[in-house]
Amino acid sequence: MKQDKCSFCGRNEKEVNALIHGISAFICDECIERGYEILKSSGFQPQTNKKQKLVFGNILKPKEIKSILDQYVIGQEDAKKYLSVAVYNHYKRILQPASDNDIEIEKSNVIMVGETGTGKTLLAQTIAKTLNVPFTIVDATVLTEAGYVGEDVESILARLLQVANYDTESAELGIVFIDELDKIARKSDNPSITRDVSGEGVQQAMLKLLEGTVVNVPPQGGRKHPEQKFIQVNTKNILFICGGAFDGIEKKIANRLNTRAIGYGAINDKNKIDKDNMMQYVSHVDLKSYGLIPEIIGRLPVLTYLQPLSRAALRRILTEPKNAIIKQYQKLFAIDKIKLEFEDDVLDYIVDKAIEFKLGARGLRSICENIMTDAMFEAPTKQDKKLVITLKYAEEKINKLNANKLHVA
Ligand code: ADP
Repeated sequence: MKQDKCSFCGRNEKEVNALIHGISAFICDECIERGYEILKSSGFQPQTNKKQKLVFGNILKPKEIKSILDQYVIGQEDAKKYLSVAVYNHYKRILQPASDNDIEIEKSNVIMVGETGTGKTLLAQTIAKTLNVPFTIVDATVLTEAGYVGEDVESILARLLQVANYDTESAELGIVFIDELDKIARKSDNPSITRDVSGEGVQQAMLKLLEGTVVNVPPQGGRKHPEQKFIQVNTKNILFICGGAFDGIEKKIANRLNTRAIGYGAINDKNKIDKDNMMQYVSHVDLKSYGLIPEIIGRLPVLTYLQPLSRAALRRILTEPKNAIIKQYQKLFAIDKIKLEFEDDVLDYIVDKAIEFKLGARGLRSICENIMTDAMFEAPTKQDKKLVITLKYAEEKINKLNANKLHVA
């Protein structure tokens, strides 16, 4: 019988590790490797992240986007819906052929208002992953007006370029998440801000970026090397998603609604205002009274909110999302062929502790880590095939700790 041989080196199946069959030829693992070396030495760069061409038929519909978000983010139904629509419209707008009599679709940058640790970053991150576009997170607090110590607004784009492997075209279709936008609110309207550099100046600097402009970006993100060649990035099609806790904004919302957030009295029953969740009534007017300049607000037309996470939501976060914390531990143990189980009351206990330490969803991870560290240290060398975490075990581990030692992830 005729033996299969590598068409390049002539060795048969037994002499190589792998022989791959083509239509009318074979290639062995070593020849593939050698071929790759040759390509590399001639300057070939493998494209690790194959770009998907953006065509209308490929864009996920809002319901499809939301159902993916549902797999990773618990609750926050309104935010998911608003975001899904905004993202869908954004990519529709990009793909709209320009013609003279066309109605121009405006950019749908998003602002999400909600306590820290409620899933703002997670939402933006999941959207970017779903769409397979470059994504970066920037903290608005590090941004300063040009000339001050800190990062120029342009540095946002330098990071986006970096994650896009300096492929300008793909960076220009990316998503930027600007966190802590509330921290650059105008001081006069927000007495909690004590920094020296004017927040309004940063807001002004961000305006053009949000709207769409061509920015000269120094490739390394610094402006100290004038000899460096600038890369031009057009922000017209970059989607900006901003987030902020806007501490105390409920009061402004309440004032506007002419009712009171806390206490008794002027509550207008007729309007059925849900005082426990004032955030749902947030409007652009409240952002203005919080200290965002009207021009910035105008460039963030999609406004949505995130609810504080309830006990039930925290409990679900532990086990339900696709990469839920508990699932991650089970996977880690499974690699050592150990079946890991948590008793139900342990999960309730973790949630209780997260609430007690006021750590919210961010705390779930650190609490789990503190419960699991000893087990992760010992289990791989033990012979047991199964490990059950009981309430007693979890309590012992946590009681040994001082609450202050729990670091927030
Ligand atoms: P924020 O940006 O609102 O401050 P994050 O999105 O960074 O909060 O949330 C911190 C962590 O808490 C996330 O990594 C995630 O594990 C968890 N988390 C927060 N909210 C949710 C949620 N709604 N569903 C699932 N996980 C969440």
